Amino acid sequence: MRLEQTLRTPADLAEAGLIAPSRQADLEAVAARYAIAITPTSAALIDPADPADSIARQFVPAPAELDASLEDMSDPIGDEPHSPLPGIVHRYPDRLLLMLTHTCATYCRFCFRRETVGPGGGGNLSASELNDALAYIASDPTIWEVILSGGDPLILSPRRLGAVMAALSQIDHVKVIRLHTRVPAVDPARMTPEMMRALKRSGKAVYVALHANHPRELTPAARAACARIIDAGIPMLSQSVLLRGVNDDPKVLERLMRAFVEIRIKPYYLHQADLAPGTAHLRTSLEEGQAVVGALRGHVSGLCQPTYVLDIPGGHGKVPVGPSYLKTNAEEQSVVLDPWGELHRLTAEQKSPASDEKIYIA
Ligand code: SF4
Repeated sequence: MRLEQTLRTPADLAEAGLIAPSRQADLEAVAARYAIAITPTSAALIDPADPADSIARQFVPAPAELDASLEDMSDPIGDEPHSPLPGIVHRYPDRLLLMLTHTCATYCRFCFRRETVGPGGGGNLSASELNDALAYIASDPTIWEVILSGGDPLILSPRRLGAVMAALSQIDHVKVIRLHTRVPAVDPARMTPEMMRALKRSGKAVYVALHANHPRELTPAARAACARIIDAGIPMLSQSVLLRGVNDDPKVLERLMRAFVEIRIKPYYLHQADLAPGTAHLRTSLEEGQAVVGALRGHVSGLCQPTYVLDIPGGHGKVPVGPSYLKTNAEEQSVVLDPWGELHRLTAEQKSPASDEKIYIA
């Protein structure tokens, strides 16, 4: 069936054939708690006959979302303590998040902000909230980078986004603007020439980070939308979330990372799934994640290697958690592991600085 509209309710999903009608009642309870939206582009990728479909797992709600895990946190990456005013999360000294909207084109079942995005999440920043947020950015000369995140900033009209970019152009100390988005893949038609003009309106260095988790999401239309962004002079990065049953297989992750590079998107972050409520069934352990990421090393071009990162629960920042190649062998010697599993001795100079001058202290 050809879909024209975003699916937003269990009844929509049943009518589109994405769930059995008998599941509708169970999913009403999930829908009452967490937002649902699946764009026509994403819905068309789902094979309803496959109970393990990697796209459905990301977007079609599941009863397991109502299962509480003791580890779940309503604000898993600790946005709230770092939010001095609506729309701003200021966790690191040289950059901050500017969240223009709480709306997304599609709602991911593993979303780390699932308690704040969606129809109940407050919509777009009001004009006065936006003015206050821009004044906050203008008042702090240490803010070098503004990250538009979400909610999805590319859900905004080109007119609205362009106005924000124009306002940021007036703030000298902001040198870089980064947008995190799913839109080029889930709603590629939004990537119009007007949107390109809006993205470029600041005159700053602009980067677009595309969130996609499975190679099937990079459809021909998505690839064309990304090409329009890159051809407009805007470099693209990727961000993905490691998800059980979606991309926790080295072969799938390899295909995803190769696909990004083939369409000129540099793999950037692979996120450990956050402890968002009702998402335990989609999370892997860090140990499993390290094994999957480790399988790429040596076997796949360095261009295709993302940094596997963990947002430390509670808002303590993001750190790399990929496998370590520095080890200690049975004789207590410092050794390094090569990509094929062989250990090699380190020299004395490699283990520790040869002189005091090589110690860097902030
Ligand atoms: S696009 Fe991002 S903010 Fe929106 S639902 Fe997905 S993970 Fe959450």
